[in-house]
Amino acid sequence: MVVRHDVLVVGAGLAGMRAALAAQAAGADVAIISKVYPVRSHSNAAQGGINAALAPDDSWESHAYDTVKGSDYLGDQDAIEILAREAPQAILELEHMGVVFNRDEEGRLGSRNFGGASHARTYFVGDFTGQAILHVLYEQLVHSGIRAYNEYFCTELLRDADGAVSGVTAFDMRSGEVSAFSAGAVVLCTGGMGRVFEPSTNALICTGDGTALAYRAGTALMDMEMVQFHPTTLKSNGALISESARGEGGYLLNRDGERFMRTTAPNAMELASRDVVSRAAQVEINEGRGVDGCVLLDVRHLGAAKIMERLPQIRELALEFAGADMIDAPVPVLPGMHYEMGGIRTDVQGATPLAGLYAAGECACVSVHGGNRLGANSLLETVVFGRRAGEAAAAFARSRPAQPAPESSRADAERALRALVARGGHERSAKLRLEMGQVMTRRVGVFRDDAGLREAERTLVGLRERYADVEIQDKGTLFNQALVAALELDFMLDLARCVVAGALARTESRGAHTRVDHPRRDDATWLKHTLCLATPDGPRVDTAPVSITRWQPQERKY
Ligand SMILES: Cc1cc2nc3c(=O)[nH]c(=O)nc-3n(C[C@H](O)[C@H](O)[C@H](O)COP(=O)(O)OP(=O)(O)OC[C@H]3O[C@@H](n4cnc5c(N)ncnc54)[C@H](O)[C@@H]3O)c2cc1C
Repeated sequence: MVVRHDVLVVGAGLAGMRAALAAQAAGADVAIISKVYPVRSHSNAAQGGINAALAPDDSWESHAYDTVKGSDYLGDQDAIEILAREAPQAILELEHMGVVFNRDEEGRLGSRNFGGASHARTYFVGDFTGQAILHVLYEQLVHSGIRAYNEYFCTELLRDADGAVSGVTAFDMRSGEVSAFSAGAVVLCTGGMGRVFEPSTNALICTGDGTALAYRAGTALMDMEMVQFHPTTLKSNGALISESARGEGGYLLNRDGERFMRTTAPNAMELASRDVVSRAAQVEINEGRGVDGCVLLDVRHLGAAKIMERLPQIRELALEFAGADMIDAPVPVLPGMHYEMGGIRTDVQGATPLAGLYAAGECACVSVHGGNRLGANSLLETVVFGRRAGEAAAAFARSRPAQPAPESSRADAERALRALVARGGHERSAKLRLEMGQVMTRRVGVFRDDAGLREAERTLVGLRERYADVEIQDKGTLFNQALVAALELDFMLDLARCVVAGALARTESRGAHTRVDHPRRDDATWLKHTLCLATPDGPRVDTAPVSITRWQPQERKY
């Protein structure tokens, strides 16, 4: 089929649904495309909460400063000011839509402490905040009548004669039918790319599809080397044990029962920012003070009642996947890939330099997280910048109504997919994906150096060559998961190269990016963003200035 809408949103997580609702409220005819049912998007997995300076003794300036400091001064301060200023309104809006945030004894919205924050400003629903918000936004989406194309996999961005983005091609995963969607504006809200690493806290669907589509279309990917490793993930499967465990008062211990954060961050201790805690935990493990490649997370002193009320989901995760009941035993944890701070470079309205293309949420880099994201700022980013991108896309679409996509663009996409499925080969995409993920974790992890990064680059070049020999064994059209996996790997191989290219270029240590061969932050040379641009030979790295409004770089101490 060939369809037309004013605004097309790709991705139905929090950013996508918020963008779609905003675009519709601005008068646009909106459709949303998602490769999974909206409520299965990874936003569903967010546990800890969402930040806002709502309390009378808190201020948006304090939230903004904490975010700037957390970013190791790489975040763009104009964007961070918007994030912090608009946060209270965004939370109240969600509450009015029906999100049942936790309340304190007096019935007011109650918050919890989170890492890197100077005030308890994380609002939450138990330890399943993302799910609670996602379901409420989904109710709004259904109520709005916005057309949802669920289980459609987007494969390409369409361009008009002037080079502007004019829609997408996608196939219905249930039938294999390929469609062209034309639109006055496209908003990419396709989420993170955690699965470039193995393991990761991210769902298997987090493969950076939209990020790669934008890169291929010629937009810059910014600060891709900034990959967040969360200090507390499970060894067996990479699952996340939310920061709320430490926010509620949990300790991190080494083999000798010492709270090792005491030396690294004497004030904030376990609630220093994530890059700081992950490095400290990794040092304990590397220097032989760990337990079986892990450190220990201890919440026993909180008592069973509080654990059951505030942390029920992560208790279950630890029970099932680490065999430890938090109520009476510490849980072995280690730093694991969790979040991509970089992404599609946008302005504060979500606009990319490509006319008609917008991005918001984890796939975008606006940039509010810079070198290190503070916990609970990401859900906030999805709703604040999702709304702004939706509104801007609607305004743009009014100025440039959608032209029907030519049937030839649909037919071309169909032919390319059929050829991919039909081709023979000797490689399996799952094997390549695992090799990619493992080399990324080993060589592009918490600690990096030139030699390791170059090894990762060589491996990725080899994997790209082998990709040409991947055979998709399922030759059918119904729910062809093998085809989906191959397309996702294709996207991820491009993104992995960008992460490595950025990491090689940035010869300093800042935020989550630690170069053991360049251990200091170097503001004179590197207080700037890296940009990756696609060329036939791989990414070309450029740089861009950081926006500084009122907070000059200082040494970071927690
Ligand atoms: C385990 C976990 C816990 C977290 N906890 C917190 C927390 O407590 N607080 C916080 O602030 N942040 C947290 N985060 C981060 C935060 O949840 C995410 O950054 C955020 O939810 C991303 O939202 P999104 O809307 O950008 O993308 P997602 O929710 O990931 O949605 C992406 C959407 O894109 C669609 N899509 C992708 N590719 C395609 C394609 N090719 N075709 C069609 N559709 C496509 C998917 O179907 C999906 O609907 C957590 C992350 C994880 C993994």
